[in-house]
Amino acid sequence: MLGNMMTMPLTISSLVEHAARYHGETEIVSVECDKSLVRTNWSEVETRTRKLNSALSKAGMNAGDRCATIAWNNFRHLEVYFGVSGGGFVCHTINPRLFPEQIVYIINHAEDRILFVDETFLPLVAAIRDQLKQVERIIMMGKRTAEAEAALEGLEFYEAFIESGDDGTAWPSLDESAASSLCYTSGTTGNPKGVLYSHRSTVLHSLVMALPDSLDLAATDVVLPVVPMFHVNAWGVPYASAVVGARLVMPGPGLDGDSLVSLIEAESVSLALGVPTIWQMLLASADKSGAKLESLKRTVVGGSACPPSMIDKFREDYGVETIHAWGMTETSPVGSVNKLLAKHSDLSEADQQAVRTSQGRPPFGVELKITNDQGELLPHDGEGFGDLQIRGHWVVERYFTADETALDAGGWFATGDVSSIDADGYMTIRDRSKDIIKSGGEWISSVELEGIAQGNPQLADAAVIGARHRKWDERPVLIAVKADGQDPGEADVLADFDRKIAKWQMPDKVVFVDEIPRNPTGKILKLKLREEFAGVLEADA
Ligand code: AMP
Repeated sequence: MLGNMMTMPLTISSLVEHAARYHGETEIVSVECDKSLVRTNWSEVETRTRKLNSALSKAGMNAGDRCATIAWNNFRHLEVYFGVSGGGFVCHTINPRLFPEQIVYIINHAEDRILFVDETFLPLVAAIRDQLKQVERIIMMGKRTAEAEAALEGLEFYEAFIESGDDGTAWPSLDESAASSLCYTSGTTGNPKGVLYSHRSTVLHSLVMALPDSLDLAATDVVLPVVPMFHVNAWGVPYASAVVGARLVMPGPGLDGDSLVSLIEAESVSLALGVPTIWQMLLASADKSGAKLESLKRTVVGGSACPPSMIDKFREDYGVETIHAWGMTETSPVGSVNKLLAKHSDLSEADQQAVRTSQGRPPFGVELKITNDQGELLPHDGEGFGDLQIRGHWVVERYFTADETALDAGGWFATGDVSSIDADGYMTIRDRSKDIIKSGGEWISSVELEGIAQGNPQLADAAVIGARHRKWDERPVLIAVKADGQDPGEADVLADFDRKIAKWQMPDKVVFVDEIPRNPTGKILKLKLREEFAGVLEADA
């Protein structure tokens, strides 16, 4: 033998073991369902997590069996993440904002055997309990109360369940390709599909997330994942925070602007992550209260396009760098992150800003390309749009229990997004392929128009759809919500688009509504808007 290096499996238990061993006293701050605070640390989390893993084995769980969670971001959910996956079982996180029928479908499809649930969601679970055929035990992640016991027959309680495990149980040794966690897509069309992550995909994703050109995570960071742990594993932040031993602040149910502002200030949060709608609420609250958010250095924004005005506001008013990132449930989620390159350092603020608005570049481990309808590769010129495809170490190959691969013959996954990519590899999402507006053979990006409208202070929210048009097939229509105390007319709103886009891209009409419908993860429900407004131009056309 020429010699070789050690081979150790890349497991999720090794992440929490590292955090406990080298950052054991670093705090995990957690907001409870009743809004009180609990403080624990990486060492306690790891010790209790091993005991939880032992309790799960004693409960008869076998390797690969699924345990589900319906819970906020809190320390118990963190323990379940590591305890379930670290023990060789699969942690299936469920979005409580889905319709109850979808939750029933998901739990039955995943064949979940144990369900961990926060007190808030007991009524939801009680209402569907009789339809959950495979669920053997339901464990409430909180203190035993008579009220909770009465709400659901046979309900068990978290501390008693952990106590049924043995102290000092060691982590089992696992194959790194074993399944670790399961998350279903939000399923705007058809039934949700499960994406089954592995230990290896999760660890590699975590390592890359921590890099300077990704989230730039360090032991000195105080990280607030506002993105829920039921949405693509909170973008992998719990695992990546264990890699570097960062202090974690888990916001529980307090996701409104005021609660987040106070938590950031009280706990000196340096990095916060979430979808644009969350930051809109947070910025409105900080503006109103005059909070300075002094500790906050970076926000990561993803899940939907970040309006350019939000990046400006964070930088100019609060000195916060916004990191725009793109990803999907199918990609763990990170597929691209926007950080500047050395050659951008001499650019003016406005030119730097133009670079920052794109969804960024792929980190090591994933590759992106765009293709036309014939599957031919399109040039990376920053101009042409095409179907965005991805491959990499943390991209799905086959959905949970699917018979067929999710990849094309060349091994790429079609994202369903339409993008352009420039010569430096910066990718810009132009639309979901089903939402792009096809007007007289030209494509108009609804995302770009929405970004402009969302930056208009006269508007509180906005969405753009393609409405049917006799001559041009489709034309853009802006659906807008007026900001409090503002009363703009159509002409005022359209004037704001002048010189920002070409004339032929200008919306044909503005329809004012009280609210833009969004799905449980904050994405605009275009289908619903199209049902209602796709015909509004037919009278004019
Ligand atoms: P999900 O699997 O629910 O996380 O949804 C993934 C989809 O969200 C992507 O395919 C995109 O359409 C959209 N998305 C995620 N991040 C961004 C972003 N930064 N800008 C625009 N769209 C995004």
